[in-house]
Parts: sequence; C-alpha cells; structure tokens
Amino acid sequence: MDPLFLGGQSVNSSSVGESRLARIPRWLRACGVLFLLSIWAAALGYPMLMRALGGAWHAAPADWVDDLSPRTQEVLERAIEDLDPDRLVDVHAHIAGIGSDGSGCWVHPRMRSWTSPLEYLRFQLYLSASGVDGERHADREFVARLRELIAGDVAGGRICLLAFDHAYREDGTLDLENSAFYVPNQYIWDVAAIDRERLIPVISVHPYREDALEELELWAGVGVRLVKWLPNAMGIDPASERCDAFYDKLRELDMTLLSHTGIELAVHAEDRQEFGNPLRLRRALDHGVRVIAAHCATLGENLDLDAGGNVQVSSFELFMRMMDEARYEGLLFGELSAVTLANRSKEVLQELIERKDLHPRLVNGSDYPLPAMNAVIHLGPFVSAGLLSEEEEDALVELYEAHPLAFDLALKRLLRSPRTGEGFDPEAFLVPASLGL
Ligand SMILES: [Zn+2]
Repeated sequence: MDPLFLGGQSVNSSSVGESRLARIPRWLRACGVLFLLSIWAAALGYPMLMRALGGAWHAAPADWVDDLSPRTQEVLERAIEDLDPDRLVDVHAHIAGIGSDGSGCWVHPRMRSWTSPLEYLRFQLYLSASGVDGERHADREFVARLRELIAGDVAGGRICLLAFDHAYREDGTLDLENSAFYVPNQYIWDVAAIDRERLIPVISVHPYREDALEELELWAGVGVRLVKWLPNAMGIDPASERCDAFYDKLRELDMTLLSHTGIELAVHAEDRQEFGNPLRLRRALDHGVRVIAAHCATLGENLDLDAGGNVQVSSFELFMRMMDEARYEGLLFGELSAVTLANRSKEVLQELIERKDLHPRLVNGSDYPLPAMNAVIHLGPFVSAGLLSEEEEDALVELYEAHPLAFDLALKRLLRSPRTGEGFDPEAFLVPASLGL
C-alpha cells in the first residue's frame, strides 16, 4: 500500500506554503486536516465528502471505450499501441478485505471505528475507490469491481495481486496491535485462480515468522514468483541479519522480493519509517536476491547509511545511487506505482523519465485502488510542470472516470520531460524475463 495523504502533506499549496507547513509539527497538521474535514463533513454531509475524495468507480466498464470521445480514444490508443500484452504486467495491485464472505482478510479495528477518525476516513476512502458499497459483502465487492476492471482492460496485460502479512515482533511473535491489515496468501491464490491467464498471485511472508522458510517453499512449489513486503508497516528491518536465511531461501527458489521503499504515510511510528530506507535492501541484494524497489522510493527521506547514517537524504536519491552501482544490474529494479500520486515531486518524476538508461530496469505498478481515489489524483501540477499538455489532461480526466487502471497506465505513458520532449520507454512497462512472470 502507499500513502493516503490524510494527515500527511498538503498537495495544493504553493512552494512557499509548503515550506511554512513543513515547520508545523506533523500532529498539528493532522489535527488541522481533521478539523477541516470534520467541518466539511458536517457542512456537506458525509456522502458528499466520500464522493469528493473517494473513488472513481461509478462507470460500468463493459463497453466503456466506445463511450469515450474520439480524442480520448486516440490518446488511449497511443498509450497502449507499442506495449506487448505478453510482457505488460502491473506488479502492484492490492486486494483488501475485512473478513466478510470467509476471506480470512482482516483490518485493524481502529480503521473501522470513528474513535480513530483519520484512519477511519482513510479506510472509507480506500473502500470507496475499490467499489465497495457496504461492509456486509465488502470482500466480495472488492474482487467483483477489480474483475470488472480487468475484463474491460483493453491493453490486455496481466495484474499481480498482493497478499499482505501481519506485523511481527523481533522475537517472531505476531504483533497484531501494530498490524494495519492482513490479506492471507491462500486468499490471494484463490482469487487469482478465477483467471489464471490475467491474475498473478503474489505472496507476503514476514521473515521473522517461525514458518517463513516453509511458507516460501510451499508457494514457490506451486509457481509463485514474487514476495511482497512493506517493511515500515510490517516491522521488517531488511538490513537485519534475521533476514539472511530468508534471503538465501529466496535466492535458492529464484523468487523476487517486491519491497516498499521510501516512507509510508499509513505508518505512524517514525522509527519504522527507516525500514523503508532503500539502502537497507543492500543486504538482500548482496545475498544475490532480485529486488524490486516499489515506488522507486519517491517519497520521504532516510538516513544515508553509506555516510555514517547521521544525515537524512531523499529516499529517491538513495535508490538512484544503488541503481547506478554496476554490481546491482540484473538484481535491482525500480517500480512505478504511486510515482504519479499528488504527493510526489514532479522533479523526481522528470528525473526518472530522463534516465533512459534505467528504463529497462523499471517495471510498472498501479498500487490499485489508489489510482481510483480522487483524493490523491491531481493532474494540474503535471501541466504546470510541462510534463503533460492541457488536451492530454482533458483526455485523462475522461479516462479516469471510465477506467482508473487504463488512466494510470495512460498517464505514465503520456508524461514527457519538458527538457528532452521524451517520455518513459515502452520497456519501463514491460517485465524483464528474469522475473519469470
Ligand atoms: Zn501498495
């Protein structure tokens, strides 16, 4: 998962406003956001608030392309024409649930209680973006909406569905209090079985679990190739020696680790943000494990561990430093999910676009359902930064309403560096053969 910016950063303020905001303590900003939201909710009504910030899920995507304006159809065509469907994979889509319909999924009770208003709102937005109408059959509705989107996906690619393990303590015991949500490997396997041609199951295994290695073997044995971590939320230190046996097993089984990098706004404990430091993944890479750095570490700052660990630098800079090390070629990959969300720097995005040499080592991800969430989608700043034209913006708005996954792909395909006039190469959206997907 990546960031719902409630309680995090403001996205619409000018740079002056942002630097002023940065001086206000985080808790105070969170209170401010909450206060404004409460006023808004009281004034406009909760359903309206959900409609404003919640999801693009109202259109039925059956023959959605025919309903688009010719201009938008042409933009969509351009976005997907040179992508080989056999290699087009979205490696980062979430399935979430509350445990209805016997799914085995779980979310922390605070996400479903008004006593934690920010977390409650965040979760409601998440459900709204996922097309979930009510809690009774939430898990079934989540899957139904995703299947609807995949059925209407004209690019013809495949999509990785991510399991999500609990947090564990260092002694290997389950840490339910610090777990945000849980999506069992078995559930992901079952959902993906609905359509093996298009859906790829990705397991999630906490390395401190006593049965971690057996769990890897079990799922590798039936063909699973990717393992998902969100270290900041799960309490995993990728640089810990406690991960060594796990890394050795990943390598032995030829599995790839898809790990969140950068800060994660759904996590509150500051010390845990350091677990998202890309440099901590050196340990996995030095064990010969293939690693996909989710989001290319495009949010936040982490300690520069290469320089003694006393200075904070942008997580993205640390990620890029590793991408530039020859020894990690063929091992380290970057992943494009969430890089276009409202809270990401447009300069960082432009740098990624201009680094053509790295595009064959990028893979695409949507971080679904985030591309369907009004609260984190703002196209204006791309136009202001010269990365997108106004005409393209109009077409993308239409696409967003019709099919958020097609929108997410088209947006990334359309972005152009104002300096070079070029965008991401098609290779950035196609999976390398070594991942075995
Ligand atoms: Zn994610």
